[in-house]
Amino acid sequence: MFRDDLLAGQRILVTGGGTGLGRAMVQRFAALGARPVILGRRADVLADAAREIEAAHGVAVETHACDVRDAGAVEACFDRIWANGPLDTLVNNAAGNFLARSETLSPRAFDAVVDIVLKGGAYCTMAAGRRWIAAGRPGNVLCILTQSALTGAPFKMPSAVAKAGVLSMIRSLAVEWGPHGIRLVGIAPGAFPTPGASGQLAPSTLAGAQGNEDIALRRTGRLDELADLAAFLVSPQAGYITGEAIVIDGGKWLQGAAGPGGVEMQGWDEARWAATRAETSRRQK
Ligand code: NAP
Repeated sequence: MFRDDLLAGQRILVTGGGTGLGRAMVQRFAALGARPVILGRRADVLADAAREIEAAHGVAVETHACDVRDAGAVEACFDRIWANGPLDTLVNNAAGNFLARSETLSPRAFDAVVDIVLKGGAYCTMAAGRRWIAAGRPGNVLCILTQSALTGAPFKMPSAVAKAGVLSMIRSLAVEWGPHGIRLVGIAPGAFPTPGASGQLAPSTLAGAQGNEDIALRRTGRLDELADLAAFLVSPQAGYITGEAIVIDGGKWLQGAAGPGGVEMQGWDEARWAATRAETSRRQK
């Protein structure tokens, strides 16, 4: 899909780059010539990902153990990252999420999600933006959202609230930092099976999580599909896109808007349509 050198020389930090979607994006960026930097709390997970990516693509992968909820730790980590040279792109991907009835949430549980997604995303964005602006350098920020940033999400309220806040950050800073040549974009994924997402959000007690009836394309997303979109959005070819978030969900949120009737009618045969036409035209008379 892309030239092999699409991201040649780009230094790209992916938070949460040691697992799941983050790791898949780093793989893709490395294959396209980028110099990846990955950050997460678990040093062993980062080291394992770095080894795999280095073996596959022959690029050095820099790793930084850091908790994005800690503003001081983020600042110190960005100092260490910048000591090896400036970043070109930041991908805010680190997140946490779980299912719960919102009336049972403790303040700590609410903070656990909002602190990673919203505050951590903002700390990293401000740390990068401040350095780009001071140096007169352009930069890209890609934030991994979720479709619930647009629709809200019952039983995942803290995540929906936090991701909607990140979308607002994208739109705010796209304008504020546009004159500095800094772009901010988002990806709002639907369902992409990863151990992290499946472990927290698709327990076997939730029958609806097992099928794909709620997705227009009737399948979950592939990690390479998301990684390709991310590669395009951080590439120079997307240089005129800013302040925008792209939904990649196989039509899931539109299928949801169609409601259960929409899903049922997709399975109707000719006889059922004929019976429906006959009944509704009878009623019109
Ligand atoms: P995942 O594998 O659980 O990824 C989460 C990553 O964030 C982990 O690498 C984790 O590493 C890191 N992280 C968590 N807390 C952190 C903290 N305080 N500081 C630094 N790093 C932290 O899940 P995923 O499915 O790949 O999700 C990746 C992104 O896609 C998330 O933003 C998620 O909301 C979004 N998304 C996923 C789906 C999906 O279906 N998979 C759908 C919509 C949106 P450590 O634990 O080592 O810190």
